[in-house]
Amino acid sequence: MSDLRDIAFIEDLNLQGKRVFIRLDLNVPIKDGTITNETRIQGALPTIRYAMDQKAKITLASHLGRPKSPEDKQFSLEPVAKRLSELLGVEVLLFEDLMGDGLKGMASNLSDDQILLLENTRFAKGETKNSQELASHLATAFDVYINDAFGAIHRAHATVDALPRLIPQRGMGYLIQKELKTLDKLLHQADKPFAAILGGIKVSDKIAVIENLMERVDTFVIGGAMAYTFLAAQDIATGSSLIERDKINMAKELLERFRVRNKTLVLPKDHVVAKELTKNAPNETTPTAAIPEEWMGLDIGPKTTAAINEALGPAKTIFWNGPMGAFETPPFEKGTFEVAKTLSQSSAFKVVGGGDSVTAVANAGLTDSMDHISTGGGASLEYLEGKKLPGIEALRTDG
Ligand code: ADP
Ligand code: MG
Repeated sequence: MSDLRDIAFIEDLNLQGKRVFIRLDLNVPIKDGTITNETRIQGALPTIRYAMDQKAKITLASHLGRPKSPEDKQFSLEPVAKRLSELLGVEVLLFEDLMGDGLKGMASNLSDDQILLLENTRFAKGETKNSQELASHLATAFDVYINDAFGAIHRAHATVDALPRLIPQRGMGYLIQKELKTLDKLLHQADKPFAAILGGIKVSDKIAVIENLMERVDTFVIGGAMAYTFLAAQDIATGSSLIERDKINMAKELLERFRVRNKTLVLPKDHVVAKELTKNAPNETTPTAAIPEEWMGLDIGPKTTAAINEALGPAKTIFWNGPMGAFETPPFEKGTFEVAKTLSQSSAFKVVGGGDSVTAVANAGLTDSMDHISTGGGASLEYLEGKKLPGIEALRTDG
């Protein structure tokens, strides 16, 4: 029961000799003009290479960071153009004037060993406002639109939403297809038992995901700071841990729904606590789930890790979003790394989503042992919440 049948895949479209606009997520970290992590550029290559093999006239576009004006040169895609040129072995021309008249000519007259890269789409005023004017201007220059910017599909921006609606020949690239197939499998065809591990700071960020997964997931593991609100909902002491008082009632309701539906639920049974969140802060492990006054929970303890291992044992599908503790600050990374290790050793189909969770798995050196790492944290969570995402809706062609 997939929602993706009316979206064309790049291989279904005729690109031969066509002017093809490809929206990518080339939003890489850049420090002093140097790209510090090129994962997103690497992720975009299969789609670009396919279009090159098809002899398309290729124009690439992406946002980068959050520039306030086009004068914010640290948000220029210039370093990306240079790197793409090296990786693809073609000349990559950076086109600065997104609203200028020259675009159509440039996009039409590219030779076989040239690719056009539009400068940061957010330099154009209308991008984040989903401007019809910007979209219409761009649409006149292209025959085909491909979106492969998974990390941006939840945003109603001009190059993601308004533009594709104006180009009848449109579809998704390799990266989006892989992401959507995986997330769709989680929602509609997950092998059971299906376990979801949720952590991170805010319950409020994750409530919609829990609700949408409620009927599909058999085992919920709740850790990280969001667990303290669930403990508070059971009148367990949480000391000075981060909790969301205004979400305690919501947590109570969710606990009741887990109970009525007979879900397996793992909440922390012990914690690593400290008086402040600083590197190597003096810390202790609590004997129970209760956290004494003036102490705050910063990681799950060993009893909790053992309970999680046991609960995940039979799982055939595991989705993980949100670290189990303040993993950026040692020694509070242990619980998160242990969970990453458990996943890496499980034979289940394992998917990790969420910016910080993906970083945690990478820090643990276990990225390669997962079946899928979702590159777009916000986009993957919104998809699992059951929301309609603008960039996906705009690609549909059935009416
Ligand atoms: P993701 O980006 O994977 O969706 P979130 O953004 O929801 O994850 O949460 C990640 C953050 O949660 C991390 O910065 C981590 O330090 C923090 N965190 C998790 N547990 C705790 C805790 N017990 N106390 C303080 N911060 C925590
Ligand atoms: Mg985050």
